[in-house]
Amino acid sequence: MTFPDKITLCEVGLRDGLQNEKTSLTTPQKLELAEAVVTAGMPVVELGSLMSPKAVPQMADTDELFKSMGNSPAELRALIANKKGVDRAFACGCKKVKLNVSASKAHNLANLNKTPAESVAGFAECAQAAKEGNIEISGSISMPFGSPWEGEIPLNDVREIVEAYLALGIDEISLSDASGMAVPSQVFNICEAMRKQYPGVRWWLHFHNTRGMGIANVTAAMEAGMTRFDSSFAGLGGCPFVPGAAGNIATEDVLYLCERMGIQTGVDFDAAMAIAARVTEMVGHPAESCLLKAGKGGLKQ
Ligand code: ZN
Repeated sequence: MTFPDKITLCEVGLRDGLQNEKTSLTTPQKLELAEAVVTAGMPVVELGSLMSPKAVPQMADTDELFKSMGNSPAELRALIANKKGVDRAFACGCKKVKLNVSASKAHNLANLNKTPAESVAGFAECAQAAKEGNIEISGSISMPFGSPWEGEIPLNDVREIVEAYLALGIDEISLSDASGMAVPSQVFNICEAMRKQYPGVRWWLHFHNTRGMGIANVTAAMEAGMTRFDSSFAGLGGCPFVPGAAGNIATEDVLYLCERMGIQTGVDFDAAMAIAARVTEMVGHPAESCLLKAGKGGLKQ
């Protein structure tokens, strides 16, 4: 097996993790976590989402976080849904936004009456506004590894979405297993096919541990040459389609994998463990993180 020497992690706990929590953390609590994550060496942090506070009340203070984190050494990004999101990004100093579309035709047609590729084409206004505002823009495709509505997604459907993003000049693309249905052989095959066909794309992988496959899927994606991964402190998060399911892959679990396999992340393992412990204190319930449960096992950093 061959693995990259180095990977890049994005901490998504402040967005994907906290938006699944019943009680919202306060802005100072979020800032404490965000600053700790950046200090630990996390190169990319998804601070929150710039969407309607009615839809996602836990993320209503994302603008404040960006204003306070202004000159951070990390790349700070926000999830957005439309041009309003770009406008808010511009106003609060956010320099990187991410759009999302579901790879499920059935889901997209039922909710938006558009195919996923048509939805992406509708992001043209966002892409233009971002460009004018000097804001970097990336795109995410959720459920390319399977959706609860149609099961497996034809790879050609995923290609159509990738090409729709590329047509807008968006060449940083995330494959997001939000439904937690991916398995390693499939991850390897899809990642390899995508890398070969679209070598200019900067790929991100986003795995949930809904069915316990998360870390195995990271390993399979790395073997296929992928080097950018989202993870969440303490494994916070959930599966929008499986109530009570496990969340995102835990940042500290990914750090353990990398530490033991000699893959550099630039993130301080002990600091990340302390952050995960602090997160569980703040949310007031135990975490899904294996490393928080079992510890590092005497591993020295
Ligand atoms: Zn997610």
